[in-house]
Amino acid sequence: MQPPQANRYRDSWCGELGSDDVGRQVRVAGWVRRRRDHGGLIFIDLRDRSGIVQIVFHPERGDELFALAEQLRPEHVITVSGELLARSAENVNSEMATGAVELTVADAEALASSQTPPFAIDEDGPVDEMTRLRYRWLDLRRDSMQKTMITRALITQTLREQLVARDFLEIETPILTRSTPEGARDFLVPSRINTGAWYALPQSPQLFKQLLMMAGYERYFQIARCFRDEDLRADRQPEFTQLDIEMAFVDEDQVIEVSEAAITAVFAQTGFETAPAPWPRIGYDEAMLRYGSDRPDLRFGLEIKDVSEQLRGSEFKVFESVLSGGGAVRALNAGRREMSRSELDSLNEVVQVHGAKAVAPITVGDGGWTGNLAKFFSAQQIAAVNEELGATDGDLLCFVADSENVAAVAIGALRLNLGARFDLIPEGHCACWVVDFPMFEADEESGGLTALHHPFTAPQGDLDDPESLRSRAYDLVVDGIELGGGSIRINSPDLQSRVFDAIGLDGEEAQARFGFLLEALEYGAPPHGGIAFGLDRIAALVCGHDSIRDVIAFPKTATGADPLTGAPAAADERQLRDLGIKPHVPPAVG
Ligand code: ASP
Repeated sequence: MQPPQANRYRDSWCGELGSDDVGRQVRVAGWVRRRRDHGGLIFIDLRDRSGIVQIVFHPERGDELFALAEQLRPEHVITVSGELLARSAENVNSEMATGAVELTVADAEALASSQTPPFAIDEDGPVDEMTRLRYRWLDLRRDSMQKTMITRALITQTLREQLVARDFLEIETPILTRSTPEGARDFLVPSRINTGAWYALPQSPQLFKQLLMMAGYERYFQIARCFRDEDLRADRQPEFTQLDIEMAFVDEDQVIEVSEAAITAVFAQTGFETAPAPWPRIGYDEAMLRYGSDRPDLRFGLEIKDVSEQLRGSEFKVFESVLSGGGAVRALNAGRREMSRSELDSLNEVVQVHGAKAVAPITVGDGGWTGNLAKFFSAQQIAAVNEELGATDGDLLCFVADSENVAAVAIGALRLNLGARFDLIPEGHCACWVVDFPMFEADEESGGLTALHHPFTAPQGDLDDPESLRSRAYDLVVDGIELGGGSIRINSPDLQSRVFDAIGLDGEEAQARFGFLLEALEYGAPPHGGIAFGLDRIAALVCGHDSIRDVIAFPKTATGADPLTGAPAAADERQLRDLGIKPHVPPAVG
């Protein structure tokens, strides 16, 4: 850190004092981390943002000073000054950055006292998450949270530097706006001045960044807050932060290149090691086949094969009925594994979550298969599958039969489960791009089609056959986590209308919702494309946290609540009246 601005509170940082400062008069300020009384002396670990230094109160320096020291408790705030001394050799603490020195207090002032904190600030032991969030300002004081938040700030700063150095302009877009579809529900904000009308909070700055390209800004970025009202999971929050990027006159390669440069710089800054970019690009179909996921974790093998052809025509009714119904049999070779019957049975639960019925496990032995399923297959079928899976005696083979999509995703989940169960995931990290996504997927609610990425993504292929269309979208995946995604966009009004049409937005509705975009597309819209990265996910990944809540200063719980402020809270009647709102149901919160 830079030296602090010297004032009456401090002229040095606690954590930066060292042997070079010995003999200097220094003044530091901060929080009492710990107090120890030893042989008539009082030792205090004093903490500021930079770290910790030991300060010592001697009784012979005066009763008043010593009485002050006796009053100090954890989290009291003080400023002290005195001479910095070298510790005697036996007292050097090599675990502590400032462990070779200590400050002998000549003058001290208590600046604030503190209640006893509900959990220890000087330890990173487990604390119930509700308590952490309720007392977030104390939780944020803890060492691990300080490190995380500092790393997060470094990530943001690195991304900014990378993009600014490449001529990107940072431009803000509105928070009170119209719906920007990204597949979630909107958060709505009632307008007081236009009673009965509502703003939507942006699910992303998607349409504005496209308009900025049409406006000639060429290269845009924003550290943007996005709002999506969806059911929360560990990696979701109702509001989250994206690094949002858009570029004009580009194809996929340029967006990917800029992304790789920015993300590589973040990884280098935070010591997160991957193979150097360019990272491999994997087609969606291949990812779904080999890894059973469009977010493939490439850190380990256990690759999936389609063995439908090898097994067609067997006596095993379960496989036969799936295959004759147009489904698929997918398999993986788990290697030589000893699994008990109940362990094997528990694998069924892994695939059932994804809609498959069961896992058929088969062990290879004596050149054939052992167990009671073996009898249903011919020697030829067994040999063909063994060859496809590279199976040798003792290997455990796992099969899942279902419609192609269900089989793919279910065995993909099984692959991850076995990878973790057998500790197959090595140290190190693996990045890849997934490309050539389908343009549309079936929309369960409407029975029609919906855009897999979003409906502003440029399609590739024959628009008359929407189901076979691919999109010009790309996702960056690291260790099975989607860090970001984007696409080349549609830049013609006709094509945009046809895509709206394909997802069942008729002309009138498209005009009502996105008329401004369709109109802008009429006025010289350049080819353009972009991407957005989940900043919270990047921070969680490089800091080694499972939940993005651990990398957000003030996150919400799984039910979207903030135990610190009590949000969301009931609005008072007067506010509702001003907004012209009559609640249908009484508020669920107090
Ligand atoms: N707006 C997209 C999203 O939030 C990203 C993009 O297409 O640039 O996922």
